[in-house]
Amino acid sequence: MKAKRQKQYKKCMQIYQNTFGFREPYQVIVDGNFCQAALDSRTNLKEQLPKTLLGQAKPMYTLCGLAEIRAKGEEFLGTVIALKRYEKRRCPHKTPLTSAECLAEIIGEDNPHNYCVATQDIKLRSKFRKIAGVPLLYLNRSVMILEPPSGKTLETVAKLEKAKTLPSAAEIAFLKQANPTVKTKEPPKPRKKKPKAPNPLSCKKKKEVPTSKKETDTASKDTSTSVEINENGKRKLDDTENTNSVDNEPATLAPTAEEDLPKKKPRKRKKKNKGENPTLESEVSASVTND
Ligand SMILES: [Zn+2]
Repeated sequence: MKAKRQKQYKKCMQIYQNTFGFREPYQVIVDGNFCQAALDSRTNLKEQLPKTLLGQAKPMYTLCGLAEIRAKGEEFLGTVIALKRYEKRRCPHKTPLTSAECLAEIIGEDNPHNYCVATQDIKLRSKFRKIAGVPLLYLNRSVMILEPPSGKTLETVAKLEKAKTLPSAAEIAFLKQANPTVKTKEPPKPRKKKPKAPNPLSCKKKKEVPTSKKETDTASKDTSTSVEINENGKRKLDDTENTNSVDNEPATLAPTAEEDLPKKKPRKRKKKNKGENPTLESEVSASVTND
């Protein structure tokens, strides 16, 4: 067997051991079809099963399975003899069912006796894949293959692993007795988000607001040194404000500012023109007078 496959099978059997309680020797229920395939490919099950499962294995047959092969005729007498060499797994069916039906009944809903199933029946294998913890074996020509754990198996493994991390019912009861005030599980309280305000030291705009208002409470909140500076600054600012406020007030109004600016420019031009013109006029007049 390839090293890679061996590693894979080892991991697989560890899952069955740890989660579902499989122990050596592994009990392998062998189907008539599987036994027939083994004879055809000349594989010795008693030798090959321990190599595949990486542990001692016990091949078994059911009476229903034996009856099914026997019913097929004398051609399968060799298979009947081969099956009979394995251990008998008694089943309660007095009138034999088909091997698949019998196996389905033995495995039940959760494979309580931890059987492995070796069968060439594809339908039966797909049926057992829906049950957690059923190792499935089949022969591909002469190669015995252990199916990887089914989705259902992996699902229950994940569930059980998660359950291990949580306290058991007995542990919770004990904790309640020991410390009745402590609740088993409190949902974490969501942190209250405070309304976010910008860092007052970082914003310069606030300094402009107190200058427009002559009396400000915000300035008083600052440290004593800053207050003194502010007060000095205020007094200086107040003086400037009084002078500026008169000029600024009309300037703040947009339409007046627009009206003032165009007026000033033509005035300058007019003044320049007026200034220039008188000289020209004077020159003209002078020339006129000279003439
Ligand atoms: Zn049966």
